[in-house]
Amino acid sequence: MSFENDNFIINIDDIETECKKEVYIEDSIEIPKSYSPYNKVPFVLKGELEKAKEGFRFSGSLKAQPRLLCDLCLSEFSKTIEFPVFGIFDREEHDSEDACYVFEDSQIDLELMIRTEILLNFPMKNVCRPDCKGLCPKCGKNLNEGDCGCQKGEMNPEFEKLLSMFNDKQD
Ligand SMILES: [Zn+2]
Ligand SMILES: [Zn+2]
Repeated sequence: MSFENDNFIINIDDIETECKKEVYIEDSIEIPKSYSPYNKVPFVLKGELEKAKEGFRFSGSLKAQPRLLCDLCLSEFSKTIEFPVFGIFDREEHDSEDACYVFEDSQIDLELMIRTEILLNFPMKNVCRPDCKGLCPKCGKNLNEGDCGCQKGEMNPEFEKLLSMFNDKQD
C-alpha cells in the first residue's frame, strides 16, 4: 500500500526560509478494505508546518469523505468527516503530546499522518440517513424503496446470518 505520492511530500528547505509553510493538499488516499470496501478516500488537508523546538510541527484540519455501506440497508453513501490534526515530524522519534512521525533526509512525507488520522476518526456506525428503514428480514428488499408486502416477524435464516455479521462489525 506504500505507493509514493509526490503531493504528500513537503521539502523542509521550504520551511527553513520562512520558518513555516502553508499546506494544502486535495487528493485521495488508500485505506484498508476492512474500513471501507471503497478503499480510496478523497480528502482535503489544510494547515501549516512550522519549526518546533524539536523538528517540525503540523497543525491544521482534515476533511475526508469516505464511501461507506449503510449498516441497515447496505446501500452505498458518502459521509463527510472533519477534525483538527496535529503532528510532530522529526528525524528520530521523541515523546510529545502530538503523534510523532519520523522523516529522513530533507523531505517530510505527510501520507502516514493523513492515513492514521483518517482511520482514527473513521465513522464506525454508518447509517445512510437518520430514518433508514433497513432491509426486510424476510425477502431482503430495501424498505427505503417501498414496502415489500411481507408479513412482519419472520426471518429468512440467510439474511439473519448476514445481518448478524454486519452487527458484529460495528463493535
Ligand atoms: Zn440505509
Ligand atoms: Zn419482504
